[in-house]
Amino acid sequence: MSNNGWQFDNSYTSLPEMMYVRLKPTKVSDPKMVLFNEPLALKMGLDFPLSGQNNAQLFAGNQIPHGAEPIAQAYAGHQFGHFTMLGDGRAIVLGEHITPDNRRIDIQFKGSGPTPFSRGGDGRAALGPMLREYIISEAMHGLGIPTTQSLAVVTTGENVYRENGPLPGAILTRVAASHIRVGTFEYLAMKGDFPTSKKLVDYALKRHYPQTDQDTLHALTLLKNVMEQQLNLIINWLRVGFIHGVMNTDNMTISGETIDYGPCAFMDIYNPETVFSSIDHGGRYAFGNQPSMAKWNLTRFAETLLPLIDSDSKTAVNIATEIIDSYDEQFETKWLAMMKNKLGLVGEEQGDKDLITQLLTLMEQNRADYTNTFFNLLKGETAQEMIFQKDAFKSWQQKWHDRRLLNSDSQEISQELMKKHNPVVIPRNHKVEEALDAACKNGDLTPFNNLLAAVKTPYTSQKDISPYQSYPTEGSEIYQTFCGT
Ligand code: AMP
Ligand code: MG
Repeated sequence: MSNNGWQFDNSYTSLPEMMYVRLKPTKVSDPKMVLFNEPLALKMGLDFPLSGQNNAQLFAGNQIPHGAEPIAQAYAGHQFGHFTMLGDGRAIVLGEHITPDNRRIDIQFKGSGPTPFSRGGDGRAALGPMLREYIISEAMHGLGIPTTQSLAVVTTGENVYRENGPLPGAILTRVAASHIRVGTFEYLAMKGDFPTSKKLVDYALKRHYPQTDQDTLHALTLLKNVMEQQLNLIINWLRVGFIHGVMNTDNMTISGETIDYGPCAFMDIYNPETVFSSIDHGGRYAFGNQPSMAKWNLTRFAETLLPLIDSDSKTAVNIATEIIDSYDEQFETKWLAMMKNKLGLVGEEQGDKDLITQLLTLMEQNRADYTNTFFNLLKGETAQEMIFQKDAFKSWQQKWHDRRLLNSDSQEISQELMKKHNPVVIPRNHKVEEALDAACKNGDLTPFNNLLAAVKTPYTSQKDISPYQSYPTEGSEIYQTFCGT
């Protein structure tokens, strides 16, 4: 019997039963397809009719494909610094699909009804936030940054009730390398179940880092790998001006993928203190705090592994601390390399770091747009933007020009480097809001699809790109994004 290309092979359910609860999505009354990610479906080897309404029952969870074993996963997490028991309160992992190129990926519904982890929530999601996750995760994928992806969005035909009244309910199908989080380990540490922690360490290592040289202590191998992947991820976020907005430990994956696009946003005007999220009052997850917050989360991760590192707790702490302490230096090296790529600097010269920080200071002082400043430097023309008119900036440009002459490689290589590391277009908040508004209020997906097309190939200058490059004018900025519920 044809199973539409699904190749389920579920391994998470081989872990102890405390890790999950088996349950099916709650059926919905009148599902309708809104979005379907055809290129992703093709890459996944799916072969059912790729468009039209036929798939609505499937992506609403009304029909469960053969081989799926739906579960809600148990996890805990530190939310804004406070530890809580969480779990999939509105998500259900349908199962693990094996792609034609032999990758194991989780297929997860988000908004598919209550679970034992719902904590009084309705288990549902509204259309706007699911469209937001779809477009931002596609943009991240286009930017070449590890991320979960979105396969489909359906509306349920039912309303969900939020502060701002009734909203159309929706379900997003999310595809991820896995949904194992720092919070999954925190859950087991909270339970004090270290035999299960050990099983999860081995499972995660085998699933995400099978090629790496393994320490005799698997917990250490995992910690080092997760730290490296998370460092790479944060560096990528900083490269493109991404602000996750809710970097709680339950939203930090062991795979190193970006997950959970709630109140996230891309920064327009450069300022490390930028915060968009309406729930982030203290600026805990501000743009420039992300590296230290990732380190904070990794420290919580290391703590969960201590009993697996050494039976003597002091020794275990010393070993883990040494690893965590190497974060800052690794970050510094990777950050410098990334910024040099953005500026097309090859080789090592003494003043490189100063040159970079001088630029960032000038950008902050002149309220320069992060993306456009680098894009205009790449184009090499005198740009309209105010910063380009300033003498201090012009003299910085001269220094940058002189430094580029010291590159060991040709100028073309330097130019290519800049092209590869500086997006032409990002999903700017005001454009995202405009697209979601049209889709949710008028059922008009045109702005959404246009924006989607633009952000899918962010490093190439396309026709009619200028509306997506303009940042909001003074007074029309969007200051807040609301958590995706
Ligand atoms: P998030 O902020 O999306 O990472 O979610 C944090 C926790 O809240 C997770 O355990 C979610 O499953 C849960 N949650 C969020 N929204 C809902 C909802 N509408 N119903 C039930 N649980 C929810
Ligand atoms: Mg989450």
